[in-house]
Amino acid sequence: MKLTEKEIAEIKDILASPKSITILTHRNPDGDALGSSLALKFFLEKFNHVAKVILPSEYPVNFGYLNGIEDCIVHDLNRERAMDAIKSAEVIFCLDFNSLDRIDRMGLVVEESNAKKILIDHHLDPEPFADYIFSDTSASSTCELIHRFIYDLGESDKIDIGIGEALFTGLITDTGSFKYSTNAHTYQVASDLKNRGIDDYTLQDNIFNTFTEKQLRLLGHALANRMEVIPEYSAGIIALTKKDYLDFEIQRGDTEGIVNYILMLKGIKIAAFIREQPTIVKLSLRSKGDISVQEMARKHFNGGGHKNASGGAAYAKLEDIVYRFKKILPDFVEKKVV
Ligand code: 5GP
Ligand code: MN
Repeated sequence: MKLTEKEIAEIKDILASPKSITILTHRNPDGDALGSSLALKFFLEKFNHVAKVILPSEYPVNFGYLNGIEDCIVHDLNRERAMDAIKSAEVIFCLDFNSLDRIDRMGLVVEESNAKKILIDHHLDPEPFADYIFSDTSASSTCELIHRFIYDLGESDKIDIGIGEALFTGLITDTGSFKYSTNAHTYQVASDLKNRGIDDYTLQDNIFNTFTEKQLRLLGHALANRMEVIPEYSAGIIALTKKDYLDFEIQRGDTEGIVNYILMLKGIKIAAFIREQPTIVKLSLRSKGDISVQEMARKHFNGGGHKNASGGAAYAKLEDIVYRFKKILPDFVEKKVV
């Protein structure tokens, strides 16, 4: 769903005078969620709008380098401020998510709000809750779409280093440093931002080379002791227990990226990273090629995402979720003789 010229003209009209604008993104915000939200905020502030970014939950510490991140309102920490910001907004942007259940309790308030709602996202199956929907599942990231949105508005000269670095962050994180989910336009965006002087080397260093010793040891533990390979279904699983959470004092963000290691195994096409959190079992699913983990997440784990990268959650025992994943594998992957 691209924005039509008429819609772009209407949005320009809405943004023609200073407004109170709230930008929302998904729970457990990643580099794309944070980068797209902050880039849009900086862009809107150039037109004297009052723009606030609301995060349902806290952000991973490695994104602390992003300018302005400390000004984001975190719903889990400050419900009242978050809800007030939604209720008083004249315009609400929803970035990097496509269904209101991704923003927890705030979803209902957004639904009831009379603000103009603009959804910009690249996940499959967007829910039609917004007045304007700019959804492109072939885009690498929401940051790529924000870049396009700024160009569509005819305001590309407003892209400065701050906006550029925020946008480049989402390009890097949602493509695994340009390894997947790219298209020709992604590289044009990257080139445009580099031309404007962003420091991509430092961004990569800030994003990826900030492991704590504990995190690196947890990765070692996950790979050495918690990984199961199922060669006949080209599958691999890593399952972390509640005890692992205690032993390694796992906090938000500590397990980021572990799922991708499974796909480094030759011949493995589908990966599940399953973790037993205090009240819920969370899954991260990844695949290669035609295998749709989005379909798997949607049908079996109350989730969704992208064809090759999805997530979900269930109120169940860890073993039951591991069992369910193994049981449904034949529906998604062809069995091979090994
Ligand atoms: P991750 O595994 O990195 O948490 O998420 C991978 C992708 O799946 C992301 O694009 C994310 O938005 C999506 N995703 C993760 N968890 C959920 C979930 O519980 N529900 C839905 N609909 N999507 C999810
Ligand atoms: Mn994204």
